[in-house]
Amino acid sequence: MTDTHCHLDYMEPEETQAAIEASRDFKAILTIGTNPVRNRRALALAEAHPQIWAAVGLHPTEAGLLSPELEADLHHLAQHPRVRAIGETGLDFYWTPETRQAQYRALDFQHQLADKLGLPLIFHVRSKEGGQAETEIADWLLQNRPAKFVLHAFGGHPRLLEVGLELGAYFGFAGPLTYKKNTDLREAAQKIPLSQLLIETDAPFLPPEPHRGRRNHPALARYTLARLAEVRGLETGVMERITDQNAQTCFGF
Ligand SMILES: [Zn+2]
Repeated sequence: MTDTHCHLDYMEPEETQAAIEASRDFKAILTIGTNPVRNRRALALAEAHPQIWAAVGLHPTEAGLLSPELEADLHHLAQHPRVRAIGETGLDFYWTPETRQAQYRALDFQHQLADKLGLPLIFHVRSKEGGQAETEIADWLLQNRPAKFVLHAFGGHPRLLEVGLELGAYFGFAGPLTYKKNTDLREAAQKIPLSQLLIETDAPFLPPEPHRGRRNHPALARYTLARLAEVRGLETGVMERITDQNAQTCFGF
């Protein structure tokens, strides 16, 4: 079992310990940094636990922090052997539409860094309504064509699905795949080649059914895995082997 996207440092220390304990049998967990302080916390966890790896980056909602110093810092951290991805980056017009230009600058910088170091780039894409961020990311992807990338917590946007398929994206599925109303998302999940599917939690956010309304943690990734297996008509164990293998191929765990 693998959780390819979580934020272990967003939890209280005891909660993080319990989460790590509950996922002892996992092959790998990728914890995602979102700003300079959190990147260091993610790396510290990855240094302390052999099954935990880190991604370092600047979250689009933090893009206002971008500076030459921060770029140099990211470049330095990204070369740590426990770092296996750059991000999360992308566009967030839900929380921070006002930093649009900075979000693009942060995205361009992280794209260059990822390609230079041969690391996958992790995308966060969120809009208020109408899917403006999704449409813009689809256009950006067609123009910039990152070598290897993940659409994290993929929401099923049709244009982003089409472009992601064209460019060989990995699609990360989190708790929303299990929500009753998300039939469109489950239909999208049927159109993606098995080799491009990843399981994630985005813990402590986006808990799967039947844990909605509570805090999420990596061990709950099994609920999303079971739902994805059902959607694809496969045994859960088969889907587990496929998504573990995909995570290994994508991130080099
Ligand atoms: Zn995240």
